Amino acid sequence: MNLTIIGTGYVGLVTGACFAEVGHRVICVDNDASKVELLKRGGIPIYEPGLQEMVQKNTASGRLSFTNNTAEGVEKSDVIFIAVPTPPQPDGSVDMSFIERVARDIAAAMTEYKIVVDKSTVPVKTGDRVSETIKRYCKAKVDFDVVSNPEFLREGFAVGDLMKPDRIVIGVRSQRAVAAMKEIYTPFKAPIIITDVNSAELIKHAANSFLALKISYINAISVVCEAAGANVMQVAEGIGLDERIGRRFLNPGIGFGGSCFPKDLSAFIKISEQVGYSFRLLQEVQRINSEQMERFVKKITDTLWVLKDKKIGVLGLAFKQNTDDVRMSPAIDLCQRLQKEGAALRVHDPQAMEKAKPLLKGVTYVDDMNAVAEGCDALVIATEWEEFKALDLDRAQKALTHPIMFDGRNLFDPAEMGKRGWIYKSIGR
Ligand code: NAD
Repeated sequence: MNLTIIGTGYVGLVTGACFAEVGHRVICVDNDASKVELLKRGGIPIYEPGLQEMVQKNTASGRLSFTNNTAEGVEKSDVIFIAVPTPPQPDGSVDMSFIERVARDIAAAMTEYKIVVDKSTVPVKTGDRVSETIKRYCKAKVDFDVVSNPEFLREGFAVGDLMKPDRIVIGVRSQRAVAAMKEIYTPFKAPIIITDVNSAELIKHAANSFLALKISYINAISVVCEAAGANVMQVAEGIGLDERIGRRFLNPGIGFGGSCFPKDLSAFIKISEQVGYSFRLLQEVQRINSEQMERFVKKITDTLWVLKDKKIGVLGLAFKQNTDDVRMSPAIDLCQRLQKEGAALRVHDPQAMEKAKPLLKGVTYVDDMNAVAEGCDALVIATEWEEFKALDLDRAQKALTHPIMFDGRNLFDPAEMGKRGWIYKSIGR
């Protein structure tokens, strides 16, 4: 099919590449001219395993192309996906101006029947708003369908998640749109759930809020474990093997971050409030999350006492492993809190250093993870990169003034670290 995706970021670019990979002809539109130029030259603006090869292969075959002209994308395709940002506003509600802008741009370019699919994460009833907007701004007065097709990909695993999704949710009003959406998604061989538009929109917020809740749950358990002398990793294992619960998302740490969970959680609380329900359970999820960070910083200051004039090595800047995304990263938040206390930082991340530089200034960026500890008073693990498990602990021990590690991601074994002579503080054990 001929498909257009408006917004070529994490979601739009990966979706475009994967649609092209299964044989559709895809135009990716972005209003950031430098991004489009980079993509046309064969570069990609984000780090995502396997993405660059897939983009290059499909661009070479002619199935994937890039433009900053929305009208061209609308004219040449039957189905237009919207994958633009839906950032939070200061009160937690969603800034819908990007979606509204794109709805108007699509409307202005429409001269025949189109299916407009919202892939961005949006508040329930956005489909109605998009329909009204298109009706209002489309001069040609043609028929169209608005579909909700929320995206569940995880950054760092985005290509795999897109190619082999757990499920595909499609919120529709007409059979014509159902048929087209099924044709697009059949090659992906995943269960397709057809719902009404409101339910599809709500599924995304409900899913992300539940995952955030699971993380806050295990973080709260970690506090109890620490106070009671239990080991949260063993508890997570013990409860996670229950199929009704599942082990995933039961990893204690310094809290969740990123461009999705915090914003989707605030948005869902706000949306619920607007329809008359005070979602206090989710407010508590937020509270536990911010306290988790405060507790970790306190662990550092309790041990090192005064941070002024201390040097701390920090491993990890991305909001989680396998990505270069630092938006709302707890690791960056942690670094800034340590800086505020007067600490000088030496930092390293396998992928996120370039993206961190504009956000995190006045630190020393170190290319080699094994050189981070050089001359530091302590080492902090802030992101759960798998490669950090291979850190040269003997070298770090020699490089530090005293072997102290604060492991915010429980990457090492406390007993083993103790045996090696480390003062090792982790989460919930
Ligand atoms: P992003 O910031 O990486 O990409 C958005 C792109 O849209 C940018 O390249 C921007 O230049 C472009 N854009 C903005 N306005 C435009 C316009 N008027 N015309 C054309 N292009 C425009 O954002 P993202 O992370 O891909 O998120 C997009 C949506 O998907 C959000 O609603 C987000 O909540 C949702 N989502 C994100 C993820 C994720 O892991 N990143 C997962 C699922 C859903």
